[in-house]
Amino acid sequence: MHGIDSGREHTGSYYAASRKLQSDYPQLDGNLDCDVVVVGGGFTGVSTTLFLAERGYDVVLLEASRIGWGASGRNGGQLIDGFTDTDKFRRKFGESAAEMVWQMGVECRDIVVQRIEKYAIDCDLKFGYLDVAARGRPAELRGLQAHLEERTRRDFPYEMGLVGEDELREWIRTDAYVAGLSNAGNGHLHPLNLCAGEARAAADLGARVFEQTRVNRICHGAQPVVETGHGNVSAKKVVLAGNAYLRDAEPRIRDTIFPAGSYIIATEPLGEERAHELLPADVAFCEQCVALNYFRLSADKRLLFGGMCNYSGRHPRSIRAAMLPRLLKVFPALADVAIDYEWGGNIAISINRCPQFGRIEGNTYYAQGFSGHGLAPSHLAGKMLADVVCGDAEQFDVFARIRHLSIPGGKWFAGPAVALGMSYFRLKEMLG
Ligand SMILES: Cc1cc2nc3c(=O)[nH]c(=O)nc-3n(C[C@H](O)[C@H](O)[C@H](O)COP(=O)(O)OP(=O)(O)OC[C@H]3O[C@@H](n4cnc5c(N)ncnc54)[C@H](O)[C@@H]3O)c2cc1C
Repeated sequence: MHGIDSGREHTGSYYAASRKLQSDYPQLDGNLDCDVVVVGGGFTGVSTTLFLAERGYDVVLLEASRIGWGASGRNGGQLIDGFTDTDKFRRKFGESAAEMVWQMGVECRDIVVQRIEKYAIDCDLKFGYLDVAARGRPAELRGLQAHLEERTRRDFPYEMGLVGEDELREWIRTDAYVAGLSNAGNGHLHPLNLCAGEARAAADLGARVFEQTRVNRICHGAQPVVETGHGNVSAKKVVLAGNAYLRDAEPRIRDTIFPAGSYIIATEPLGEERAHELLPADVAFCEQCVALNYFRLSADKRLLFGGMCNYSGRHPRSIRAAMLPRLLKVFPALADVAIDYEWGGNIAISINRCPQFGRIEGNTYYAQGFSGHGLAPSHLAGKMLADVVCGDAEQFDVFARIRHLSIPGGKWFAGPAVALGMSYFRLKEMLG
């Protein structure tokens, strides 16, 4: 199976090959009525559905392919707190908005952990995370120090600490980095098993889940109707959670985000000893630069190594050829290791890197644009969407009042315009 655009079934990812739940929800066939119809079965849509099902709503979830088919079932599995840049909120809306956004950053991580516990979801959750600063880039080390200072000042609830070059060898064996910032609250997990487990929990609570059911059109009105090829769903409220994959189903929110590719390769299992030799701390690692690398061990001790941020709209012909040199730069000792899986997916980037929340015609709500950091934030988005559907718009409106900037030139020019912007950021980084 191709590793990116696999159509109606999962990509050929390591996650698809090792998933515990085979989802086999039916295709919609006929017309339905419900309280809320949710479009998109990634973390945002599944999380919304589960929150609403827990509150007794009659929910229908429509997924074009399989539950977790999009970014949610293909990502690096790095569970990272933080919702968005709190400084932006402070500058624009003052300290109390910034404080609320800060708390939301802690909450989004907690929602994931509580869900896993509550529904006993088997998704290889491990705690521990290290942001790493690259050799020769002093700005990155300064960034980690500033980050720690801010979190200490705000009484961050989980243990954090700077790891100097000597101590770094207890975490990772490479010459690529000079320091790290540890965070015991963050961690890593098998994202497809998480998403599938949450969908199963929602279905057990009565949510009606349909797969291989693409929404082609939304007819807005007092009682909106979403149209698929095999039936329509009429609801009091609609939630759009298609993120980078929604595109033409709702053109009004299409051009405020652009899809960018990110790619992962998975080695063969390294064996306990070799895995421990390279990564003595079995935590998630993440670089600081714009087109960053992120990596971790899987439960069966493969190295899952991800990175790149491809804004051109064209995926690399060979993900392995694009990613392997990056992996070997960090771990030259792995030159003899086989690559068993390669895949990629689209993240949805917004110009200001802030998740977008909004309403369309009063009874359709959306959340999108998590900009590459969405595993935990999309879970909080699900809560915010469920809250606003239930009449509590407090968190939702903090974000809904931010103007969503359109990509210059619309969808056809998104690639080149953004590529230019990325070159600027890379240059800044090199000079930093
Ligand atoms: C390779 C990669 C690595 C990443 N690594 C990390 C990481 O380590 N940590 C992190 O925090 N974030 C990471 N992210 C980002 C994170 O995965 C996303 O932000 C998050 O999963 C977004 O969830 P979502 O539900 O909004 O979108 P998606 O998971 O993309 O789900 C959208 C779903 O909607 C469906 N859909 C779209 N249109 C329609 C329609 N018309 N009808 C019906 N269904 C439709 C799609 O089929 C899809 O399943 C990564 C992303 C990628 C691609």
